[in-house]
Amino acid sequence: MMELIDKINKLKKERNAIILAHTYQVGDIQDIADFVGDSYGLSKKAADSDADVIVFCGVHFMAETASIIAEDKTVLLPEIDAGCPMADMIDADKLRKMKEVDSDAIVVSYINSTAEVKAETDVICTSSNVLKIVGNLKTNKIIFAPDKYMGSYVAAHYPEKEIILADGYCHVHVTILPEDILSLKEAHPSAVVLTHPECQGEVVKLSDHILSTSQMLDFARESDAQEFIIATENGILYLLNKQNPQKKFYHASKYAVCPNMKKTTMEKLYWALEDMKYKIKVDKDIAVKAKRAIDNMFFYTEK
Ligand code: SF4
Repeated sequence: MMELIDKINKLKKERNAIILAHTYQVGDIQDIADFVGDSYGLSKKAADSDADVIVFCGVHFMAETASIIAEDKTVLLPEIDAGCPMADMIDADKLRKMKEVDSDAIVVSYINSTAEVKAETDVICTSSNVLKIVGNLKTNKIIFAPDKYMGSYVAAHYPEKEIILADGYCHVHVTILPEDILSLKEAHPSAVVLTHPECQGEVVKLSDHILSTSQMLDFARESDAQEFIIATENGILYLLNKQNPQKKFYHASKYAVCPNMKKTTMEKLYWALEDMKYKIKVDKDIAVKAKRAIDNMFFYTEK
């Protein structure tokens, strides 16, 4: 493995590349990455980086987003088949139809969406900024796509707003059930429950804090609590344990593993740098419109 790590680092230097990895990636990939984070943090890094090449260890929509934000850079996705089923649960046609029915609504789409859907969107959000963005919008009528569970979480937070939901969901987060949380709470009564807003409402209700993965990492580091129940994709346990060896973390469900996030391996990362593949590029017309929605995200987050 050391030999492969050296080869990746050497190629990275030669290509003036940066490796970005999502917190759901396997441990080896997280270790070699220049930055590990959630979708918002990774988008910021892509926007601010002065590298020529961004290797995105994540899923397709993330690399697409990076290529829209950093249009002058080469964006590589080491595994071309790493997709996100939730992102594919709505397409531009479906969203256009929703817009026709509620033409006075603002469209907020989760970053887990295709470039075509982003192009039909007014403001993109991530799990870390969704409440802030919706709170900052003056309008009270919002079409939210594609994640119906995150949309329901937003609706519960802002009862004065009308949130029209699309019908998407994450097939990984829905494997976490309320009974999983209840039995873990019984076994570990002093554990704090940290839950991702892609989880179902009944799970959210049983939780202490609803957080993105980067927010979970910050919370666990800064908290005096010693035990945590973690309701999100299990890849995050790697970094939680690494950063807090004295604390205990229990995953909410052994089934919460995203097969697409696990498709990226060290070998594929090496081949990506060696062969400069797979290049992700978005059509200019789509990219321009999608970028406007992403820029609006940065604007409403930093407002
Ligand atoms: S965990 Fe869910 S939302 Fe995230 S990439 Fe996998 S399928 Fe998509």
